[in-house]
Amino acid sequence: MISGRTLESWCASHPLIRELVALQQTTWFHPALAPVAESIGDVGLTAADVADASARLTRFASYLRRAFPETEGSGGIIESDVRPLPKLHALLGERYGRSMGGSLWLKRDSHLPISGSIKARGGIYEVLKHAEDLALAGKLLRLDDDYAVLGSDKARAFFGQYKIAVGSTGNLGLSIGIMGAALGFQVTVHMSADARQWKKDMLRSRGVTVVEHASDYSVAIAQGRKQAGLDPACHFVDDENSVNLFLGYAVAAERLQTQLAQADIAVDAQHPLFVYLPCGIGGAPGGVAFGLKLVYGDAVHCMFAEPTHSPCMLLGVYTGLHDAVCVQDFGIDNVTAADGLAVGRASGFVGKAMQRLVDGYYTVSDEEMYSLLALMERSEGVRLEPSALAGVPGIGRVHADQQGYLARAGLDSHAMAQATHLVWATGGNMVPPDEMQTYLDKGRRLLAKDWAVG
Ligand SMILES: *Cc1c(COP(=O)(O)O)cnc(C)c1O
Repeated sequence: MISGRTLESWCASHPLIRELVALQQTTWFHPALAPVAESIGDVGLTAADVADASARLTRFASYLRRAFPETEGSGGIIESDVRPLPKLHALLGERYGRSMGGSLWLKRDSHLPISGSIKARGGIYEVLKHAEDLALAGKLLRLDDDYAVLGSDKARAFFGQYKIAVGSTGNLGLSIGIMGAALGFQVTVHMSADARQWKKDMLRSRGVTVVEHASDYSVAIAQGRKQAGLDPACHFVDDENSVNLFLGYAVAAERLQTQLAQADIAVDAQHPLFVYLPCGIGGAPGGVAFGLKLVYGDAVHCMFAEPTHSPCMLLGVYTGLHDAVCVQDFGIDNVTAADGLAVGRASGFVGKAMQRLVDGYYTVSDEEMYSLLALMERSEGVRLEPSALAGVPGIGRVHADQQGYLARAGLDSHAMAQATHLVWATGGNMVPPDEMQTYLDKGRRLLAKDWAVG
């Protein structure tokens, strides 16, 4: 029984569940979106909250550029660039068997400094926020100080009295661990069974305590929460509910706005922007989408992408059960090669707050992510980890428009010809070369098979 009903009964009322349980690639457009003016209040956060987070990141810039010299070029601001994908765009038209207008772009959070994934936004932001709160309360720092003082031995000794704990499938642990350890915190990362060995090794080499769990992400989080609950000196980074993580991600939007303007890309009702965001627990895509809605209003359309084996957000929003269900309740195994996306239970906070703001959700098979990984490398020379490819099929799903979505959204062929499609690449830069080679080999084998069949 699932929330008091049989699987059969759920499938009868929600037919897409049959496809999800069969692990088919599925697309669902929300049938009842509301204009941003009406729905943005659902989130319970405002543009002022995002501006506050942005200002905090600016205060930390002088510290970050010293502690992490790779941020010197951007003045201590952790940001990635956007680049066009013309060759991949053409190949996707062939792959998905339809012509797709507009232009295709990549947001390279895969190459964010410090931790090489989208977690370098929310994860690092939350550590900095916590450090600032402690330092202000401890009279180590004033708001108008040069934050470079936080790199001093005195500051490190101060933060050394405090602990940070987090549960992670890998990338969140990397971001929290690298940033927390740099400031001097005692950091413990509770890793789920699917976390890569190289991520654990890298964290241990930086003095982070890594606890390995034989179970999935939800259990790793529960263990982290339990440890922190017993120790008042320990701050738990709560990926299921954290507002700070969410705000750290949301800051991406104002930065993207500047980048698109510099690239002469218009975003308005006649020039819609589609953004395809890989979704695990939902904090990263939710925060970015919230920021984008604040900046672009109804002109931006966000889609969340999940593995066929871990469609937790799609299931939660589609059934309305949110975090009251997990994919395993429906007999879906939550086993995927997509790091960061192997999440069985979505954040209830994000699912509920964002459901009237997110245009749709779709699932992608591991095979498709690997194939696209190889296609991206071959056509554009960009190397990403499998999860970062989940955004790529979005342009095909929107154009396939199975449920009359484009008409509902008021998007005719004229607007679609002027659309910008942005794939949010969420990770890849820190993958060791031999691991990347294994990904590429696998993707190329799958591509060769597709070509042979097609
Ligand atoms: C964490 C992660 C995501 C998704 O973020 P959530 O906040 O879990 O939804 C996407 N891609 C990568 C590579 C990640 O590490």
